[in-house]
Amino acid sequence: MTDTMNAAMMVAPNEPLEFRKVPVPVPGPGQILVKIEACGLCHTDLHFWLGEHEIPRQLPAVLGHEGVGRVVKLGQGVTQWKEGQRVGVGYVYGTCGNCDQCLTGYETHCAHVQCTGVNAEGCFAEYAVLREDWATAIPDDLDVAEAAPLLCAGVAAYSAVRKAALEPGELAVIFGAGGLGTYAIQLAKCCGARVAVVDVSDEKLSHAKKIGADYAIRADRNACEEIRNLGGADASLNFAPVAASWRQMIESAGARGRLILVSLPNQQLTFDAAEVIESGLRVMGSADGTRQELRQLMGLAAEGQVRSVVERVPFAEINIAFQRLAAGDVNGRLVLDMR
Ligand SMILES: [Zn+2]
Ligand SMILES: [Zn+2]
Repeated sequence: MTDTMNAAMMVAPNEPLEFRKVPVPVPGPGQILVKIEACGLCHTDLHFWLGEHEIPRQLPAVLGHEGVGRVVKLGQGVTQWKEGQRVGVGYVYGTCGNCDQCLTGYETHCAHVQCTGVNAEGCFAEYAVLREDWATAIPDDLDVAEAAPLLCAGVAAYSAVRKAALEPGELAVIFGAGGLGTYAIQLAKCCGARVAVVDVSDEKLSHAKKIGADYAIRADRNACEEIRNLGGADASLNFAPVAASWRQMIESAGARGRLILVSLPNQQLTFDAAEVIESGLRVMGSADGTRQELRQLMGLAAEGQVRSVVERVPFAEINIAFQRLAAGDVNGRLVLDMR
């Protein structure tokens, strides 16, 4: 193994990432060194790259938090991994492990959460150091590029679907059929729900039907009526970052409907208290996913129950990939091929 590696480094907000030769990091106690084979590009990386979110550490920095690779070196005291095993990391790099949230299975709400690429160097590099307790095993029969976006986009959708607590036959309405919505459709079907998808794009709606959605609904004025005609939404999951979809969620909810918010609209969301009180609606926010959810999701993916729609891009073209993501010129998730 060489001592240096190629890393795509963010040097300043809104500037192209620079490829630099830097020392291969050394895993400390409880850490593992991973040779990265693929890393997905996420909108959160884009917000950092554009300077819309500030990175709380010194630049240059390595972003990238949908990394998959093989363990090549163990730090002191590591017991749960062996060299050669395939692992991945998502947006959560690690948590304290000892607070009320961590101890009760809500670890992503830990006040001391550390994020990959934000508080620690990420995976847009040939090697990355991960915490042994927050690395996720990636099944060997899963394609590396398809596995990568499961680590952030996939698990965010999975956690939201779990919070929706769908019963067989219930109506789940997915607002937004992009990357996360595509996962949520497949996962809601795994729960036995009837799945309706609302989007402005005919192309996305027809893809949604192909991957299992029962009903495709144009996000226009009649959308709420169409959903109410199906019996009203038992659960609505919002992956569309526009406030108008929030109104539609409220107006199309059935009695005691669950409203799960995942996307971040730029506008304020408003409602009349009576709308929520009279129907007994429950509103929940959902972000990221726990380690247990990551394990469950990898199991579903290995069985072929959830598939990723990915486009592979050579690592050397990372700046072009970022520009395409910024322009919305992407179908499915972009994944850097780093082998
Ligand atoms: Zn992400
Ligand atoms: Zn904690």
